[in-house]
Amino acid sequence: MSDSAPFAHSLDAWLARQCGAHTPEELCARLARRRLELLNIRLRHAARRSRFYARRLAGKGRPLTSLSEVSRLPFTTADDLRRWEDMLCVSLSEVERMVTVQTSGSTGTPKRLAFSLHDLARTRDFFAVGMRFLIRPGQTLRVLLPGAHRPQGIADLLRQGLVPQGMAVATDERLAAVLLEAGEEKGQVPALREADMCGPDAADACVLLLLPQQLRGLLRCCPTALPGVSGILSAADWLDPDLRTAARQAWGIPVLEHYGSTESAFAGAVECPACDGLHWQALDLLPEVIDPLSGEPLPSGQPGELVLTTLQREALPLIRYRTGDMAVLTETPCACGSPLPRLERVLGRIVHGPDGIEVVHPPKGGGIR
Ligand SMILES: [Zn+2]
Repeated sequence: MSDSAPFAHSLDAWLARQCGAHTPEELCARLARRRLELLNIRLRHAARRSRFYARRLAGKGRPLTSLSEVSRLPFTTADDLRRWEDMLCVSLSEVERMVTVQTSGSTGTPKRLAFSLHDLARTRDFFAVGMRFLIRPGQTLRVLLPGAHRPQGIADLLRQGLVPQGMAVATDERLAAVLLEAGEEKGQVPALREADMCGPDAADACVLLLLPQQLRGLLRCCPTALPGVSGILSAADWLDPDLRTAARQAWGIPVLEHYGSTESAFAGAVECPACDGLHWQALDLLPEVIDPLSGEPLPSGQPGELVLTTLQREALPLIRYRTGDMAVLTETPCACGSPLPRLERVLGRIVHGPDGIEVVHPPKGGGIR
């Protein structure tokens, strides 16, 4: 029996432990109750401790009685992050990591996000359970996302989560750069050997964490076989479903997807091997989908703009943050057996133009830091 029984997997078992559910049947209701408690706590915390939310939430102090009532609250936008000092709910000395969000065409005041030690620990814990879909003790995770090596960055958080479970985490900036360039689909295709993929001392197959563009590059370099790699997680940008299918067919290994951004503290939602939608970090993020033009909430199953509320973020909570990502949510149980709602798929980035909206697939620019 696995250590996650009776739940579908470690991620559901992890959520169940935090909300007091003992069976999969209890999980949805207990999780919803705990999310509502966390949401009300966070709203109080934000209104009391940040000038920005004190103004935004003025007159809306009554506790919410259901999660759907979150739609009564005003949105937060990427532009609001320019006033990050007003949004901050902790003192600067309690900020463990500050990240500047790069945006195209931005002028003047930078947009920033701040994370406390607790905020980063929540991400670490999600990584620790979410990565178990792909990696087992004794294996190495090779993190190829640009910028992931920064202190308290993605690689550090993964290391903190995976090393205690007997896994190793390594970065390889050379391989990361080679694959990025190969993904641009111009120039010579570099030859890659197993040692390039897993490092010279690898005793076991490794798992790669990379950008979709690097996945494209890898497929150019190794079109038929990928020796030494047992699984791949694509993250930090929109993954073309055709690219994913081509990679799976070429290599016969799991190629899974992670949805996350700097705003979601790098974590977010991760696909399980059943490939039937992405499982949320459900006690940290409350997702909604809205009509990108009217702002009205849309039912599950309809495509719209993904809006995220952070349920446990201390330093700089986001309440109804408009991600600019077009997405579909699903409430049908996953093929893996999990009863929890998921992110069915991300369709691309929303661009507002003179003739309405358009969904495009540009790289986010700067990726994840
Ligand atoms: Zn699943």
